[in-house]
Amino acid sequence: MVLKLSHHHLQAICQHGESTYPNECCGLLLGKIVNDCKTVVEVRATENVWNAEAAQLFSGVEGTRENQLSNYAISPQTMLEVQKEVRDRTLQIIGIYHSHPNHPAIPSECDRLYAWEQYSYIIVSVMAGKAQELLCWELDSEFNFQAEEIIIVNNLEKSKTK
Ligand SMILES: [Zn+2]
Repeated sequence: MVLKLSHHHLQAICQHGESTYPNECCGLLLGKIVNDCKTVVEVRATENVWNAEAAQLFSGVEGTRENQLSNYAISPQTMLEVQKEVRDRTLQIIGIYHSHPNHPAIPSECDRLYAWEQYSYIIVSVMAGKAQELLCWELDSEFNFQAEEIIIVNNLEKSKTK
């Protein structure tokens, strides 16, 4: 699939990643899926609720620690609340974004185990507090991450109302 989003959305993700540095940030991509194209309508920042308890579920997985320097989690309650809210707006959760402080924008094994099929996963690399590379990933049928193409659209909302 292809993921369409605006400069404004990209900026919001990068700024969130910089604001939580050196911890990981996370959030939801809200939008629509039409044919083979996902369109982001809104980027929603969420709280990173990763803690020691969550780390236990993934113990033994490479790179898993008890702090938020290299892990994130979105609470199931937040997921449900946002799902309900966007359904009323005929939107859906189409993906998740998070940051990789001082690491490349490549998914970790923990990211893969935590991932859902059909979601897009945007990762922004934040090096020394500055957002750098931003990549998008989706799972293939073998449950491995493949790069997903990003198309940057300007004035997304305006062009839709025409
Ligand atoms: Zn990650």
